Amino acid sequence: MRRWNGWGDETTVVELPAHGADFLLARVGAGWTLPDASLDSALALVPPSRLAAHGLYSIEAHDRLLHARGQSLPDWLALREGKPGVYPDAVAYPQSQEQIRQLLALAQTRDLCLIPYGGGTSVAGHINPTISSRPVLTVSLARMNRMLELDEQSLIATFGPGASGPQVESQLRARGYTLGHFPQSWELSTLGGWVASRSSGQQSLRYGRIEQLFAGGTLETFAGPLQIPTFPASAAGPDLRELVLGCEGRFGIISSVKVRVSALADDERFYGVFLPDWPRALQAIRQLVQARVPLSMLRLSNAVETQTQLALAGYPKQIAWLEKYLALRGAGEGKCLLTFGVTGNRRQNALSLAQARQQLKRFGGVFTGTLLGKKWAQNRFRFPYLRENLWRAGYVVDTLETATDWSNVDNLLNKIEDSLRDCLAAQGERVHVFTHLSHVYGEGSSIYTSYVFRPAADYPATLERWKALKHAASQTIVENHGTISHQHGVGKDHAPYLPMEKGALAMDALKTLSRHFDPAGRLNPGTLLQE
Ligand SMILES: Cc1cc2nc3c(=O)[nH]c(=O)nc-3n(C[C@H](O)[C@H](O)[C@H](O)COP(=O)(O)OP(=O)(O)OC[C@H]3O[C@@H](n4cnc5c(N)ncnc54)[C@H](O)[C@@H]3O)c2cc1C
Repeated sequence: MRRWNGWGDETTVVELPAHGADFLLARVGAGWTLPDASLDSALALVPPSRLAAHGLYSIEAHDRLLHARGQSLPDWLALREGKPGVYPDAVAYPQSQEQIRQLLALAQTRDLCLIPYGGGTSVAGHINPTISSRPVLTVSLARMNRMLELDEQSLIATFGPGASGPQVESQLRARGYTLGHFPQSWELSTLGGWVASRSSGQQSLRYGRIEQLFAGGTLETFAGPLQIPTFPASAAGPDLRELVLGCEGRFGIISSVKVRVSALADDERFYGVFLPDWPRALQAIRQLVQARVPLSMLRLSNAVETQTQLALAGYPKQIAWLEKYLALRGAGEGKCLLTFGVTGNRRQNALSLAQARQQLKRFGGVFTGTLLGKKWAQNRFRFPYLRENLWRAGYVVDTLETATDWSNVDNLLNKIEDSLRDCLAAQGERVHVFTHLSHVYGEGSSIYTSYVFRPAADYPATLERWKALKHAASQTIVENHGTISHQHGVGKDHAPYLPMEKGALAMDALKTLSRHFDPAGRLNPGTLLQE
């Protein structure tokens, strides 16, 4: 069963190894835990709904609590304390496009706000209701999760918007295909949510981001359904898919999604290589991607992330041997771990591997075979579970991300890390900060930074710590030519920074579009656009 106040399935537990706990103790200090509320006490705080019971939705406290928050750090704190504060008045689970249209009609006659809800894995406050004089109805698409059509000639599959990662892949794999979209939240996030928040999967290098995979579909709006036909390419004016991609539930509810799929690959492997230092590692990864070596994923950890990963992996004896060997081969202190993947057929993959090894050797890369790559593949969706045991050990962990051009990657990365590391110094607190690059392009790269800090004396003060950290990093990003989000979207947390990135004219255009599809401003108020 899904955890009500944390990440993922209750039966999956990722331990914090003793060596990892010592590592954090040395860098952040002794952990400090805040008390967790019980589910019963959290349910007891859900106020009565402002809506009367209705066949199209539930007003049960349990449904309303479970859809009150996503997975951002403020959401985590609110749920652990058992006080989300604002709750939807009801939750609907439509099973067809027709029922979505009935809900839109109901919103008009009863003067409601609607929040489209996919898997609720937003990490930027997208699906949190705000205080509103209108009752709020959250629309969960979870029951619209089937593959409706597969055009095997065109390689286009049509799905209900609420299909989660495993539901998408299992239905496609049964027919020999894959979407190839694997965000770390894959277990719980949905196709509609990926499109609405412009998601990026771990193998975007091969399969593309959701922008490249999204071929068309239907958006149900207050002005009627917007149908987006599929074309391999079109010069017929602006691309209407762009109205749906990143709309974050502000323009309508996505009721069907057409995606470009691929035949399953025969062979896939992941490898680990250590580069001696960050400057060489950065150059190596840039040249690999600019040379268009056909790899399916690349993830480069900076020196602190490499050190942290090795500490949290457990197996201190084996790691000590590995480090001795690496030091002998020239990758000692300051080494950076690069994980890369090849996906395709055996011959192609052998060629890509040889090309990659040759390029990496020029930068002092020490190749360690498939062992670390296999570990990465086994744990690719498990890392978020560690948050649970870090919390129990008295530490808070959060991540943030951006993207910028190659000429600015190092500068921006250092500035983000500095802004976080120094942020709580006045309170005498240390913040452990580390970064990786995992979505790389010819022009530039995403930058993904994690930070670990200790809770304050209570929940409100801990939230204040997070606000200070988040603001410092977000301001640094927009002031230094980074996008406020490469993959997590805008939601409510990033909305204040969006005007700095887009400019006043563009913000006006987005607001006009929102009013065009939703004149009364009923859809997901406060997300994407602050008004
Ligand atoms: C542990 C963890 C790891 C993550 N890793 C990644 C990652 O690797 N890559 C990545 O891109 N993101 C990642 N995310 C962020 C998140 O998973 C993505 O933003 C994802 O796309 C959200 O999908 P969802 O179905 O959960 O949408 P939700 O969180 O339910 O909603 C997100 C937004 O989309 C809108 N929406 C959802 N469904 C519809 C619909 N049918 N019609 C209209 N609007 C809709 C909502 O209104 C909301 O504004 C991660 C999150 C977590 C918690």
